[in-house]
Amino acid sequence: MSSSTFQPDHQVTIVGAGFGGLCMALQLLRAGESNFVLLEQAQEVGGTWRDNQYPGCACDVPSHLYSFSFEPHTAWSRMYASHDEIQAYLVACSHKHGLREKIWLGTALTEARFDEAQNVWHITTSTGRQFSSRVLVTALGALSRPAIPQLPGIERFAGRVFHSARWDHSLDLQGLRVAVIGTGASAIQFVPHVQARAEQVHVFQRTPAWVLPKGDRPFTPTELDRMQRIPGYRRLFRWRIYWRQEFTGLGFLVAPSLMARAQSLATRFLKKHIKNPALRERLLPRYTMGCKRVLLSNDYYPAMAQPNVKVHGMDELQAVTERGLLVDGQELPVDAIIYGTGFRATDLLTPLRLLGRGGVDLNTVWAEKGLGAHNGVCVAGFPNLFMLLGPNTGLGHNSAIFMIESQVQYILKGLARMRARGATSVEVKPQAQEAFAQDMDARTQGTVWKSGCKSWYLDAKGRNVTLWPGFTFSYWWRLLSFKAGEHLWGRTAR
Ligand code: NAP
Repeated sequence: MSSSTFQPDHQVTIVGAGFGGLCMALQLLRAGESNFVLLEQAQEVGGTWRDNQYPGCACDVPSHLYSFSFEPHTAWSRMYASHDEIQAYLVACSHKHGLREKIWLGTALTEARFDEAQNVWHITTSTGRQFSSRVLVTALGALSRPAIPQLPGIERFAGRVFHSARWDHSLDLQGLRVAVIGTGASAIQFVPHVQARAEQVHVFQRTPAWVLPKGDRPFTPTELDRMQRIPGYRRLFRWRIYWRQEFTGLGFLVAPSLMARAQSLATRFLKKHIKNPALRERLLPRYTMGCKRVLLSNDYYPAMAQPNVKVHGMDELQAVTERGLLVDGQELPVDAIIYGTGFRATDLLTPLRLLGRGGVDLNTVWAEKGLGAHNGVCVAGFPNLFMLLGPNTGLGHNSAIFMIESQVQYILKGLARMRARGATSVEVKPQAQEAFAQDMDARTQGTVWKSGCKSWYLDAKGRNVTLWPGFTFSYWWRLLSFKAGEHLWGRTAR
């Protein structure tokens, strides 16, 4: 890539071996670049699909779309695969094209410091290894660090406590009394499992979610056979899913009023399964659908209607005691507390230290100015750094894998331009990043995310720093070219 005298140990270092990191690595190999390493802090690849093994964990985007376009998997057993099938797919991808030997498992990046004289990143890992890399690509994912609320008195609780992303499989829930905190995308998947086993389930809800039926089913043998034998069939299937998902974007992006139809469908769905008027009232959201993530489930409401489930408002929970929870002055005995409280999604970097120009820490920059990256990928002051699923690239209506693939193509174009120019550094201009941020703010106005609910999509100032406020094809289009004029190109002395 460079013709400078200083040759870094690696041209590219990728951090994180989930969907993003594996996509980057596989595409580098396809582009003929093999001088890279992939650091993974855990002992296996898979990212969120390795960590989330709670019962009922599955994807809510159809699997033929929620997979790499260039590594099709014809054998998905059903429309929405479960976590173990997705994890097996990712492990299989990591064995493709000799990639496995480039992955350093059990190795976290602890610090990366940009060297302005040599235009390289000096990288330190948790195992004490140090090396240099021309380019750094972070693929950390937004959903890797559990968010755990500080419940008063939790330290004295004698039972088991765990988060959905760290499920305690050694605990047999049969006949236990269980408290579940949170009613988001994860909780609605594991609550039916808990309800079927536990003697009593206390669900603590802060905000009810809009829930729609999930069009899930196993593929028929004929479909599976066609998927395998007729590439056009699988491609058409994927293409139809993509456009169907994209169509739902209209309600999110263009006219939240379009959500009215989906909202009345969800309300009818709720009424069908929840006959108790007080419970219905509790589970009915009071915000426009889409403002928070829309959930898909066929078994959540039926489980919530069972006599061994009681729903409480989060504001009723006063404290945790040694044996249970103090709710409205009464102690409810419980044996286990399960957090379905999501992730620290807006803390994109910590605990990494990424030190750019002048030794400035990216965490500090983001803490002061708020999250931001040009196209969600490049940050001014941090040359040769690219991010996957960075700020403003999350989605409410389509597959995150589509976004990752767009970003990887963009990064590969940036690297090719570097090579063509004989440059050893590429750094986005602050003006380009600022223009992008303003565009994000402008595009978010009028979308459903600004319709008044409280969600982790918006930061403390109410700015959308997590979602791409547009159709995914417009993101793909934007990232189709790596605009040289938006970047500064540097060379080291020969
Ligand atoms: P989540 O959607 O953020 O839901 C967290 C839940 O916990 C919400 O009900 C939230 O209430 C509640 N909560 C958070 N902090 C709380 C606190 N301090 N006290 C009381 N309640 C609290 O988290 P998640 O369910 O783990 O899902 C996270 C993301 O993972 C999703 O948005 C989705 O992107 C992804 N996910 C995807 C799938 C899939 O099928 N593809 C499945 C699971 C998860 P509020 O609503 O009031 O904040």
